[in-house]
This record gives sequence, structure tokens and C-alpha cells, in this order.
Amino acid sequence: MEIRGRVLSVASECVPLIKTGGLADVVGALPAALAGQGWQMRVLIPAYRRLRDRLDAMDEVWREPNLWGGEGVVYAGVIDGLDMLLLDAPHLFDREGGPYSGPGGDWWDNAQRFAALSWVAARMARAGFDGWKPDVLHAHDWQAGFAPAYLAYHGSGGVGSVLTIHNIAFQGWAPAAQIDDLRLPREAFHPGALEYFGGLCSLKAGMVTADRITTVSPTYAAELLRPEFGMGLEGVIRARAADVSGILNGVDIAVWSPEAEPMPYSAKKMTGKAAARAALCVEFGVQVAGPLAIVVSRLTDQKGIDLLPQVVPDFVAAGGGVIILGSGDPALEAAMRGLEARFPGRVAVRIGYDEALSHRLFSGADAVLVPSRFEPCGLTQMYGLRYGTLPVVAAVGGLADTVIHASPAALRAGVATGVTFHPTDAVAFGQALRQLCALHADAKTWARVQANAMAADVGWQASAAAYAALYDGLVR
Ligand code: ADP
Repeated sequence: MEIRGRVLSVASECVPLIKTGGLADVVGALPAALAGQGWQMRVLIPAYRRLRDRLDAMDEVWREPNLWGGEGVVYAGVIDGLDMLLLDAPHLFDREGGPYSGPGGDWWDNAQRFAALSWVAARMARAGFDGWKPDVLHAHDWQAGFAPAYLAYHGSGGVGSVLTIHNIAFQGWAPAAQIDDLRLPREAFHPGALEYFGGLCSLKAGMVTADRITTVSPTYAAELLRPEFGMGLEGVIRARAADVSGILNGVDIAVWSPEAEPMPYSAKKMTGKAAARAALCVEFGVQVAGPLAIVVSRLTDQKGIDLLPQVVPDFVAAGGGVIILGSGDPALEAAMRGLEARFPGRVAVRIGYDEALSHRLFSGADAVLVPSRFEPCGLTQMYGLRYGTLPVVAAVGGLADTVIHASPAALRAGVATGVTFHPTDAVAFGQALRQLCALHADAKTWARVQANAMAADVGWQASAAAYAALYDGLVR
């Protein structure tokens, strides 16, 4: 295929190397999706502890002498067909712990660590490297927010820039006094540019300087104009409205495929799903005649996990059961354990992160619950669609864009794919679960909705075309 252009993608996470959330899935999936559109993409992330060992045959492609207290070297290598670039700067990234935090909480120098990533991305994009010159720099979230700003304030070299907001709740704040240290111009310290409630905000810096802003669903793009979703940045979004678009994430349909599971099944032949359900019930010691629901999620306020203790008792009384896989807020972890203790044989909880288990859960369950207060896109409801595991979701953000509520009209028209509710509270969620139970009791209708769900297009093709069109508009 003819190459239309080149993109340097910069982020703090990328599957299969490092993941704390959906950001990593998306960053890891985009290169293959865009290759199909003629756009070549290479991905730059930090070389966190032990990541370098995961790539073989790495070539040094960039050296940055003065990177906030040490040298940085960028290595290029390939993993699972992905063209990866790793920024090796041990003084910033070779630490025991997660990408953003260690045993004592958030790393004290996160502003500098991710400024360094952004700095190197902007310099490499501007100059080109390894015989390769990008047309577009694509920055993801607050961790890469300074990258478009460095292009804007230190010279773009003709490179266009895109900032994608995967979650506006994480903004990357730094004190104003660090403006020189962060290599940003003092003249730009005003509300129309870098200033943010008296300090600096890397996400805002990216939002005011990037040529285009995208977020990960059309509904979230519209929601961001409102204070309850914009979280302080709604005015910035409004000022850039002409350059903002919402492009839905897809899922990797090769990885998330019921046909590829140990107990395979398809819309035509669902017996594998029944076997997977039975195995799941044995594994977790649960027995349910009604719908078996799952939750696979960070256990946080955003995800509405605190609503579960209010709705699960009625759901269990109506014959339902729930298996919860997740970790996060200790109080919510305790609340989930409390539910398990209260409803033995009906509610089971696994605290932790377990990709393989999540596949077994989607294979075997009847429904997946996603009661988010806000959800930029969300991936688990799309896994649910793929697996005929009907999504029960709050009608916000990408959840509203991907699930068609089983209203009488949608059922009649044969297009329903799940159950949605609004607002995100226990009353509406409880009502949705009652509807789920009723739907489950009507085997014929249930099977039809399952078939619709499994036929839904949740792959990357349409979104990749939208990104390609966006990049095309930036080629100079
Ligand atoms: P967010 O990025 O806000 O956490 P998303 O739905 O966009 O939410 O993406 C979450 C991703 O992380 C999904 O791929 C989901 O399956 C996965 N995930 C979340 N928690 C767990 C867990 N405890 N075990 C396995 N996978 C998980």
C-alpha cells in the first residue's frame, strides 16, 4: 500500500509492554489499524524498569544529553509487530513501582518525568530520526501534553500535532514556579495559554497548542463542553470547539474473539458459551438461575462501583449473581469483599488484575455491568458485545455511543444490544438490573439481543479511517 504519511505517537503506556488502563490498549492498537489506511506509526514510551529486556535487537536512534538530571537514549525495536521506541532515562524511569506512582504514592517528579518524554518526542518529530521524518506528532493524555506545546513554542519543523484526551480527569498539574524548569515560555503564562488555576497543567498546555484535539467518543466530546464533565477544562474545549472531534475506540477483535477462547463459540453456535458459564460457576463457587453478571474494572468512584452494594441485594433476590474482578480504592475493595461475604454462592470477588481471567469472565457471563459516572469511551462494554455478554451501562460518553438500549421500539426493530440507564444512581441502575432479569427470563428475546450484540461492529476500521482523515488534513 502507498504510504500516505508518518505519525510519531507518544504516550505513557502501550500494550503489550505496559498497561494500567484503556489508554494502553488504544495506543497499542492504533499502529496496526492505521497501517491499513496507509499511515505508518511508531510509538514512543518510557523505558520503565525491565522494559528494555522485552525488545530484542534494539537500535539506538536518538541521544538527548540534558534530560532533567541525566541523559536519555531512545532505542528502536519491534515487539508483536509494533514499531516501538523506548526512552531510556534511568534517572527518571528505572524505578520499582507503577508508571506514575511508587510505594509512597505518586512520583514526586512526574511533571519532569513526562516533560522529558514530551521533550524528546517533540525534538525527534521536528528533526526526524533513523532516516524517518514524521508528518504528525500524536500525543496522548496529560503525560504527553507538553509535546505539542514544545512544538508550538520551540518550533514545529512543519510537523502537525494531535492531542487525544482519553480521560480529562487526569490533568498533570505542576506549580507555576516550575515554568522555566519545564522549558516553557513565561510570556505564555496567562489564562489563554499555559496558566491553569494559578499553576501549570500539561493537558491544558496540549489542548491550547495542538493543531487538533480528539477524544475517544462523540458523546464524550460533547459532554466535555459542560462543567460536570469538563472538570475545569470545559472553557478550553469550548474555545477550541472547531478543532475538537470524537473518534470511538475500537477493540482488537483478534484478541477479543469468542471463537479464539478455550471453549469457543459464535453467534451461530452458542454451546461453548454455556460450557464456559458452567466452568466459571465451578471456578467461583457460584450458582445462579438468573443472569450471571460480571464487573471487570478499576474500583473507583468514576466507575460507579460504590453503587453495587445498593443494587446487588435486589439483583441477587431476583435470581442474579455477580463476579467482580478489579482493584483500586481500598474502601471499595472492602465493600466488594463485604458483598461476597453477605451473599456466598451468589457474589464472588477477585481483587487484582488478571487479563486471562477477564477473558474467562467475558466468555462465561451473561452480562457485564458498567455503571460509570463518566466514561470517555470504555472498552469492557465492547468486549461484552463481542462475547454476547450483554452490557448494562450508564448512558454516558462512549457507553451511550456503543450500546443500544433494549427499549420496546429497539426490540421491535431488532437492533437492541444491551440495557442502558440514566442518571448514574442506584434507582436507575436497580431498574436496569430488573429489566436485565426480565430479558433473561425471555429466552427468545435474550437470544436475539445476544445475536445483535455479537454482530455489532466494534473493530478499529471505521475509527482508523477517521484518524487517517484527520492526519491527512495536517500534512504540510
Ligand atoms: P479505564 O481505562 O478507564 O480503566 P477502559 O474500559 O477504557 O477503562 O479500559 C480498561 C481496560 O482494563 C479494559 O481492557 C479492561 O478489560 C481492563 N481491566 C480493568 N481492570 C482489570 C482487571 N482487574 N483485570 C483485568 N483487566 C482489567
